[in-house]
Amino acid sequence: MEVTSCHAYKINDSRGDETLEVEMFAGEFSAKASVPSGKSTGSREAVALSADEAIKNVNEVVAPQLVGREVNFSEIDKFLLELDGTENKSELGANAILGLSIAVLKLEAKIEGQPLWQYIQSLGCSTSKDSGDNSIRFPRLFANVLNGGTHADFRLPFQEYMFVLGNGLNVAGPVEQLKVLFEQLGKKLKKNGKEIKMGDEGGFSFKSDNIEEPFDILSELHNKLALDVAGGEFFENGKYRIFDKEYSSGELLEIYENLVKKFPIVSIEDPFSENDFNGFKQVMEKTGEIVLIVGDDLTTTNVKMIEKTIEEKMINAVLIKPNQIGTVTETLEAIQMTHKAGLKTIISHRSGETEDSFIADLAVGVGAYGIKAGAISQLERMTKYDRLIEIEKEVGKC
Ligand code: PEP
Ligand code: MG
Repeated sequence: MEVTSCHAYKINDSRGDETLEVEMFAGEFSAKASVPSGKSTGSREAVALSADEAIKNVNEVVAPQLVGREVNFSEIDKFLLELDGTENKSELGANAILGLSIAVLKLEAKIEGQPLWQYIQSLGCSTSKDSGDNSIRFPRLFANVLNGGTHADFRLPFQEYMFVLGNGLNVAGPVEQLKVLFEQLGKKLKKNGKEIKMGDEGGFSFKSDNIEEPFDILSELHNKLALDVAGGEFFENGKYRIFDKEYSSGELLEIYENLVKKFPIVSIEDPFSENDFNGFKQVMEKTGEIVLIVGDDLTTTNVKMIEKTIEEKMINAVLIKPNQIGTVTETLEAIQMTHKAGLKTIISHRSGETEDSFIADLAVGVGAYGIKAGAISQLERMTKYDRLIEIEKEVGKC
C-alpha cells in the first residue's frame, strides 16, 4: 500500500513545550506519532529543530515527496536520510524525521494486521531470538520516583532515582507494586517534613544536602534501586560539582563505590560526563560485575559510540532513546548491536514527553531488559505503563 497523505501539527509536551505530532494515511489506515524532547541532552545527539520548523519541513518538504511511496519504514527511513543529507539530521530536524519514521512503522503494522510490539518483534532485534526462545519478555520497570539535577533545579544531586521492578516475565503486577511504593514514598516524605515538589518526570523532589539521604529513604521501601546521575550536568572545568564541593573523577568514583556497598543499587546511568571515558572504564572495573553501568549521553543511541564504548569496556548496558538518533531503523540497529554484544538495553522516554506510547511496544518488541518511562504520576508517563499492561493482555490472546 502507498502513503496517501501525511501532515504534522503542533502539540504540547509534558513540560508545556511545543512539539509535533505526525499523522499519516494509507487508504483506510492511519497512524499518529508524536516526538518527545530531552533537557539533559548528550552533545552527540541528532539535532531537533523548533516545532514550527519541523512541522514546516514535514508539511512542505517531505509530505509532497512521500505521497505515493510504499508504506515501508526501512525504505522511507532511507529516503528521509537522503533527503536530509546531514550527519546530525539538522536539515529536516531529527524530530521531524522521527515523527515520520514512527508513523510509517505504525501504519505498516496496522496494514499487516499486527499489534505494533509483535510487528517490531518480527523484525528480529530481540535477545531471545538468537537462542531460539520465542517467549515474550516484558521489560523491567526502571521507574522514576525522585527527581533531581536539571530535572528539578538541583534539589537533589543526581537526576533520577528509580525503583527497579519486575523480572521480565510480566508487567501488570510490577506496575501495581510501583503504585503502592510511590504512594508510600509520598507519605514518607511528608511525614519527614519535606517540602515536596514534582520533578520533570513526575517524581518527587525535595531539598537535601546529603548524598546518602535519598538512598536511606528509598532503601527502606524497596530493595532494587537505580540511578541516572546525568554526570555531564554537574561537570565544570574538569571537576564534578555537588553541593558546592568539587570532586575529581576518581573522588566521584569513590562515592559510587561507597553507595553501591551501602545501598541496594543495581544500575547507574551516566555516572560520568560523556567525554570522561576513563571515569566510565574505572567504574566498570570497580562495580561492573554487580551493577549495570548504563550509557545514555555517552552513547546517544548511536552505533558508532555504542561499538566504541562496548569495545573499550565503558558500559554493560545501553539506554535507547529513539529521538537521540532520529529514525526507527537506526534505533533498531543500535538495539541489535547492543544485544549481539550480549549487553542489556533499556528503552527510555525523554524528560519532555507526549502521550505516544511507542516506547512500550518497542521495549516488548525487541525484548529489552528494561524500560524507563518516568513516575506513575503524569499522564504522559502513564500511557506507557498502560500500554505495557494492554500488551500483556494482547500477548495472552496470541
Ligand atoms: C535521561 O537523561 O535519561 C532523561 C530521560 O532525561 P532527558 O530526556 O532530559 O535527557
Ligand atoms: Mg540519562
